Amino acid sequence: MSLHLTSLQLDSRSSLMYDAIVVGARCAGSPTAMLLARAGHRVLLLDRASFPSDTLSTHVVHQPGVAALARWGLLDRVRASGCPPVDRVVYEVADIRITGGARGLAGQRAWYAPRRHVLDAVLVESAVAAGVEFRGGCTVRNLLRDATGRVSGVEFRHRGRTHREHAALVIGADGMRSTVARLCDAPYTVRHPRLTCAYYTYWDSVGTDMELYERQGGWVATVPTHGGASLVLAYFPQRRFDDIRADSGPAYAEQIRATAPGLAARLVGKRPLERLRGSGDQRNLFRRPAGPGWALVGDAAHHKDSITARGITDAFTQAETLVRHAGPRLVGSPPGLDRALRAYERECESLLAPGYRATLSAARLHLSEQRLSVLRAVSSDPELTSIYLDVFAGITTAEALYVPRLFTRL
Ligand SMILES: Cc1cc2nc3c(=O)[nH]c(=O)nc-3n(C[C@H](O)[C@H](O)[C@H](O)COP(=O)(O)OP(=O)(O)OC[C@H]3O[C@@H](n4cnc5c(N)ncnc54)[C@H](O)[C@@H]3O)c2cc1C
Repeated sequence: MSLHLTSLQLDSRSSLMYDAIVVGARCAGSPTAMLLARAGHRVLLLDRASFPSDTLSTHVVHQPGVAALARWGLLDRVRASGCPPVDRVVYEVADIRITGGARGLAGQRAWYAPRRHVLDAVLVESAVAAGVEFRGGCTVRNLLRDATGRVSGVEFRHRGRTHREHAALVIGADGMRSTVARLCDAPYTVRHPRLTCAYYTYWDSVGTDMELYERQGGWVATVPTHGGASLVLAYFPQRRFDDIRADSGPAYAEQIRATAPGLAARLVGKRPLERLRGSGDQRNLFRRPAGPGWALVGDAAHHKDSITARGITDAFTQAETLVRHAGPRLVGSPPGLDRALRAYERECESLLAPGYRATLSAARLHLSEQRLSVLRAVSSDPELTSIYLDVFAGITTAEALYVPRLFTRL
């Protein structure tokens, strides 16, 4: 009799329950949902937005992110959207000019910069194609908990009505201001002050290279994207944010003139293709990324200044890491899943810490003499240039530059 009851309960539970509910359907959420569904899980993906839609973000994808897209079978769709590969970088700082390409990763040498309304739509559609149930226009307001306090589902609003759904794991992929993190009381484990503010728009026929320009207190970059347009972005120290946002157009133009005079000359007589967008709210933080019945991926778990353009690539890495650990434990006992979530937490920390340190260092917008010496040595050696660009892409860490050959040059 009791066996019979148990199986009945299990049956009704499984028909009502998802293995995972993912909140947020962009770079972190859609790949997480897609990979879980490809592993055979029943997944609900919720976002308050509908797709395709844009979001405040530039969109450089470094080679580890490109390799992830290729592994997932999505790179061809990104290419087919007309997003060009970018395999040459020109980097100017002081009297130094570095040109070359990265060695790359897994056969991917090029960067891509697909517009977010394109990339995020490809990711959501691929999640749906894998069997994920996607519902747009749904805003998660609350978490559901079982009698032990374990997170067991979400409460969300859709078209003025409240809905509830249950799952073994609720995954917050809902960005830097994550509601899921707040409702789980996910503590900050690392926090640093904001360091920059960033403004960007698009210009026609700027060029086919990625161009990077740096000076004390300034950083400017151009990156080719769809339709012959280039993203042109400018970074300022955070302490200037109040002044800059008061009159951002002239400040943007002045930063390009001061940091990248050659580029500024090429933009004379042109008009930006779109309005100027920007943000001074680029927090630097890690949150605890998991607990009983919940996990965080992407910006919800870890956010950093966008100057190193690592957020999308890191979101992909976190998605794969979470699915590798938690995927096989979603069906089974809660303690098994919790052990897997702790392993995810440990791996995330070690994977993301080096990029975080590099980002804080770049975002200080400070050029030390030591750094200029390294860049000078890099500029005169094609092999070191490729290693340096691998460092920029997050493929390797700056230690890779410190080979004996470089030391003899300094
Ligand atoms: C100015 C700027 C430039 C950047 N440039 C780059 C770059 O060049 N390269 C790069 O790799 N990264 C860049 N980044 C970082 C990048 O944008 C993020 O790291 C990336 O978007 C993280 O993806 P995500 O899926 O974690 O979060 P998000 O992209 O923020 O997506 C979160 C999703 O969750 C949804 N959501 C939020 N709350 C709820 C809720 N309560 N209920 C339902 N849905 C919810 C939102 O609608 C959204 O769709 C930049 C960021 C900024 C601000």
